[in-house]
Amino acid sequence: MAKVLIIGAGGVGRVVVQKCASLPEVFSEILLASRTKSKCDVIAEEVGQGRVKTAQLDADNVSETVALINEFKPFMVINVALPYQDLAIMDACLETGVHYLDTANYEPKDEAKFEYKWQWAYQDKFKEKGLMAVLGCGFDPGVTSIFTARAAKHHFDEIQYLDIVDCNAGDHGKAFATNFNPEINIREITQKGKYYEDGKWIETEPHEIHKDLNYPNIGPKRSYLIYHEELESLVKNFPSIKRARFWMTFGEEYLTHLRVIQNIGMARIDPVKFKGVEIVPLEFLKAVLPDPGELGENYSGETSIGCRIRGIKDGEEQTYYIWNNCKHEEAYKETGAQGVSYTTGVPAMIGAKMMIEGKWNGEGVFNVEEFDPDPFLTDLAEFGLPWHEKLNAEIEL
Ligand code: NDP
Repeated sequence: MAKVLIIGAGGVGRVVVQKCASLPEVFSEILLASRTKSKCDVIAEEVGQGRVKTAQLDADNVSETVALINEFKPFMVINVALPYQDLAIMDACLETGVHYLDTANYEPKDEAKFEYKWQWAYQDKFKEKGLMAVLGCGFDPGVTSIFTARAAKHHFDEIQYLDIVDCNAGDHGKAFATNFNPEINIREITQKGKYYEDGKWIETEPHEIHKDLNYPNIGPKRSYLIYHEELESLVKNFPSIKRARFWMTFGEEYLTHLRVIQNIGMARIDPVKFKGVEIVPLEFLKAVLPDPGELGENYSGETSIGCRIRGIKDGEEQTYYIWNNCKHEEAYKETGAQGVSYTTGVPAMIGAKMMIEGKWNGEGVFNVEEFDPDPFLTDLAEFGLPWHEKLNAEIEL
């Protein structure tokens, strides 16, 4: 049993809180802190029974976080605020001696980079303090990395070709909306594509490469090669990989909106002067787009995210597909959040549970594929995200 501090009261935060609250034998006390306290209070109210305490916190401010941690004394922090806060929260954890978990890698505000280098540089600091920092424990990164670890542990002597395939075949009924924080989402999707082959990173123009891929229970969907952060840690932790790529589906309508947003300068992340004050266009755009946390109500359809792998087992070529499908409607019925928040929040809760139960342990900074995938995947199926696997699968890629 352990106390947990959850930072961030967005769509993902709502799911993490609800899932943690449903397991009092693991998460004895929960404090939800975020920039806007009223959002924490709404979530606490939904859970009821006084299970969740709330607090106002600007997590960019290390001393504020340190003070809150010292007052509440949690075993760990689950960081589901924005990637900009990662390092400040890690600093606060180091100062107070508590463990750390997040779902997205650190990003400086003025650069969209999606690199682990800043957080990996904390390795020695966490080691010296005997603390554990777990990076990227959402769905992708997160479950996709753990799916790959399962493949390596049980089905392959050598993973050679890895394709992570992420399909959202949902319909939220809005002309344009992002499924998680719009600022982070648009930064991720408008950057150049990149994949790994024969020891090198190969860059592509945004959305230059696409294929129609078949997804279980969904059918064919146009899928675009984009860069995604787990590729960086996976090729490091599984050095037999010859090629690693990430594919994501986008509808025509979504891409058209995105093109317009970029062409008119609204995706810019550098400040511009407006009526005498500096504003960042993408931050302003976020303020007028639908809140991803509120998309759930009319969201139909499902997501399908998985790994398609080719490699060698016992001297023979092996193919393998492992995936989860998640229905937006069911996610909403259970938690009031749509499927993308759900598929991120459930793994974050399970990662924290693994740490509290000592099933994942160590000192330093870790990516999730470095741990035993088995207990995590058992819990993943039990707590709302059943997964499926197929050996000798037909791999379209
Ligand atoms: P939201 O924008 O809905 O929520 C972010 C929350 O963090 C908001 O409540 C926001 O407060 C709060 N916040 C922002 N800045 C601060 C700050 N300085 N101090 C304290 N709180 C702050 O995002 P999501 O819930 O959609 O996403 C949360 C995280 O999950 C993001 O990092 C995202 O990248 C990651 N993610 C990971 C995925 C994965 O599969 N690995 C998939 C989807 C998301 P306020 O309400 O005041 O703005």
